[in-house]
Amino acid sequence: MSTSFWHPQAMMSTVKNNEIVIDRGEGSYLWTEDGTKLLDATAALWYANIGHGRPEIATAVAKQMQKLEHYQTFDKYATRPTLELCDRIVDLAPFDDGAKVLLGSGGSDAIETAAKLARRYFTATGRPDKRIIISRQQAYHGLHGHGTSLGWLPANREGYGELDPAVLRASATDWHDVEKTIMNTGPELIAAFFCEPVIGTGGVIFPGAEYLAEVRELCRKHDILFVSDEVITGFGRTGKWFASERFDLQPDMMTFAKGVTSGYLPLGGLVVAPHVAEPFFADEGSLSFRHGVTYSGHAAVCAAALANIDVLERENLVQRVASLETVLADALAPLAELDGVIDVRAGVGLLGAVELRDAQLANKVEAHGLGHGVLLRKIVGGNVIQISPPFIITEDEIQLIADTIAAALGE
Ligand code: PMP
Repeated sequence: MSTSFWHPQAMMSTVKNNEIVIDRGEGSYLWTEDGTKLLDATAALWYANIGHGRPEIATAVAKQMQKLEHYQTFDKYATRPTLELCDRIVDLAPFDDGAKVLLGSGGSDAIETAAKLARRYFTATGRPDKRIIISRQQAYHGLHGHGTSLGWLPANREGYGELDPAVLRASATDWHDVEKTIMNTGPELIAAFFCEPVIGTGGVIFPGAEYLAEVRELCRKHDILFVSDEVITGFGRTGKWFASERFDLQPDMMTFAKGVTSGYLPLGGLVVAPHVAEPFFADEGSLSFRHGVTYSGHAAVCAAALANIDVLERENLVQRVASLETVLADALAPLAELDGVIDVRAGVGLLGAVELRDAQLANKVEAHGLGHGVLLRKIVGGNVIQISPPFIITEDEIQLIADTIAAALGE
């Protein structure tokens, strides 16, 4: 066993000599190196949406790599899969004609891009004072520089000294608090509002349609850019291609990652509404957005994304999520009656959570799952069990996840 890998986000004292090495995947199942078969109840980190081990993605990537692995896309250069993917995403996303797409290597990259572009847009349009960003209690927006400042899970902010002081926190469920924050600060100083339409890592929190509608309207009224962080919800997880469509958010910018490739290769990006992109696209303009990374629009990665979207479309997997929404909610609902359960959340696509009394109990549930063929995951303070299976999961397998949690709690 390797002793040199430093696991992301891990307490290494508890991981040492305790690693689980995943060796193989097929559909909704994974096999560890010692041969144990596990049902992937979370689609890994909410991304394995079309399931594991699909040969059509491997074939598409190999074909692209044999022709050209990548050529960088700064300035006037591009590769064909990069261009095709951006057009495809704009066709699927709930934006007016003329939206633009910026690409990076994951969700955190997309958040950096969105935070910088929000501020850059207002300097470009003569309002440099608009630079404060509001994000929400329990938010998770990745862990790069801006993402660390925009997220409000305490453990992720500790030990770095002062984070970006131009980020303010507002309630994730009470829109009046958002309004108060805007009015107390002064709308003329606020650039953007960052919003996961369903909070993921912060505990699978559904803010409610009224909250989303009201904050969207507040942003419109005060010329604050509404940034929909769809790193988890994008590409079908809520039963629509994007949660922004489901909740009619008409975002000014929208991040995506995970589901764009179902995790076959690392990719993230930002869809930008035409009016935000406009100053940078004006004929004879002299403005550029000096942002981008070596692998922006990586050719082989974009080929994987195109093949992944083909699978989602060909197999009607987004509609499948919509049809499984009540199946998941009905399967999880009885858990609310069990000892140790604080709350059960479900009802939007294939997103669910079982909040337990404490992290110790959640550890036991996770261990029980591992012993009984179901791979579960704990989020937030370690006391919430995440349920976000691949879109190809069956009704019986959804029931098995719920039964396994129930059996663990019964022990
Ligand atoms: N935003 C949200 C809503 C996320 O859930 C995540 C990842 N879980 C990120 C941003 C960051 O994405 P990545 O880990 O790919 O950098």
